[in-house]
Amino acid sequence: MHEKLLYELSVPDRQGIRFPEIDVPRSELPSQNLLRKKPAPLPEVSEFDVVRHFVGLSTKNHHVDKDFYPLGSCTMKYNPKVNELVASMPEFAGLHPFLPTHAVQGALQVMYDLGEALKAITGFDAVTLQPPAGASGEMTGLMLMKAYHSDRGDTKRRKIIIPDSAHGTNPATIAFAGYVAVEVKSASDGTLDPETIHAEADDTLAGLMVTNPNTLGIFERNIKEVSDIVHGAGGLMYMDGANLNALLGITHPAALGFDIMHINLHKTFSTPHGGGGPGSGPVCCIDSLKPFLPVPVVLRKGDEYYHDWDRPGSIGKVHGFYGNFLIMLRALTYILANGKDGLEMVSKAAIVNANYLRVKLQPEYFIPFPDECMHEAVFSADNQCKHGVRGLDIAKRLLDFGLHAPTVYFPLIVHEALMIEPTETESKESLDNFIAVMKQIAKEAEENPDLLHNAPVNTPVRRLDEALAARKPNVRYKSEENV
Ligand SMILES: *Cc1c(COP(=O)(O)O)cnc(C)c1O
Repeated sequence: MHEKLLYELSVPDRQGIRFPEIDVPRSELPSQNLLRKKPAPLPEVSEFDVVRHFVGLSTKNHHVDKDFYPLGSCTMKYNPKVNELVASMPEFAGLHPFLPTHAVQGALQVMYDLGEALKAITGFDAVTLQPPAGASGEMTGLMLMKAYHSDRGDTKRRKIIIPDSAHGTNPATIAFAGYVAVEVKSASDGTLDPETIHAEADDTLAGLMVTNPNTLGIFERNIKEVSDIVHGAGGLMYMDGANLNALLGITHPAALGFDIMHINLHKTFSTPHGGGGPGSGPVCCIDSLKPFLPVPVVLRKGDEYYHDWDRPGSIGKVHGFYGNFLIMLRALTYILANGKDGLEMVSKAAIVNANYLRVKLQPEYFIPFPDECMHEAVFSADNQCKHGVRGLDIAKRLLDFGLHAPTVYFPLIVHEALMIEPTETESKESLDNFIAVMKQIAKEAEENPDLLHNAPVNTPVRRLDEALAARKPNVRYKSEENV
């Protein structure tokens, strides 16, 4: 049945609020030519209609508060509500960025403490909180790399090695930073092959960029050897930290030989994300890159916090003001609420959950790189392709069961990839439900492939042109001509 939209619920003169009788003198309206010629065509509805309308809308889309959201690489974990409570405190949320330092000591302490926590978690010496997303952290990191090389007069370094499993933002950032991406083939176990790195390790190498665990959910077991090769050639090691959810309390990226990394606070440290942000992508680095960090840097002298702008070697600013402060606040709340042991449990549980799914789904779904995984498992729909069912059909059918689809068709080196990241916040019961649904879909693929070709059948809209839906979303009730 067609559910009525707010405009269709409109009844002439129905109101949501009743104003009391006017008890002050009426004043003149501004001159006629400043007023609308006819009233704006707003729906005339009660408060109740409005509340039902928006609650209805909020359940039409999928979100992590509603059900399982196994979108690999995105770390769609449950975001504790205490984070929102703290981030909505007017003492924080109402701060103006131009307030003088002495008036915002608490906010500066939040930034300082978060920076210290991120350094402790990653093992690095220095941090900037300014980049507003992971991709922007990548750009900041490569700008640091460039500043480092050019400061040493080392100007012929042009190339950055990435594996063929790299996330799309990596080659894009490399090109944006004025470097050239050199793609190397992953070894048969899905990890970096030191031999291929050797072959590119010369005096034109600026650095290497890799996600660890990589986008196949596999820990880069040769990372120390790889970083020795890169460092031996004078290059720097950049870690894409989007998968940090697998390493908390287990190892330090700095100890693995990395020099720079970004952290997606919105992923690992629980800020609701998707749909384009806002996010936060702090960058951590080793001591020798510290002089190049964006300004200002929050420092502490005794009990006082201040912004240090006096950084002659700085790459400058990478975002307005100080970065996305309320996301930093959520991340610090989350880190303090979990503590060191809690964060370690987060990663360990994320790894156990992913391996549970990997083992349980292996009878039905092919795994091209079948080693033990970290926090996510990448399957292929190859078994189902035999029946003419593609990864996309499986993803669409999941929506009928009220579950979000996994990431599909990434990483590019897996044919018909289904990249599943359950996260630590899902219970065994919710994993078991997902497993049961996935098994049923595998059965449907064999017995009734057309059902999957036509899925989803239970959602408010069916199969959309995904490119158009993202690029030209139609969110208007009335067409252009009617308004
Ligand atoms: C999410 C992600 C990024 C980009 O991060 P954003 O915060 O979305 O800009 C980069 N690399 C990997 C592996 C990711 O999963």
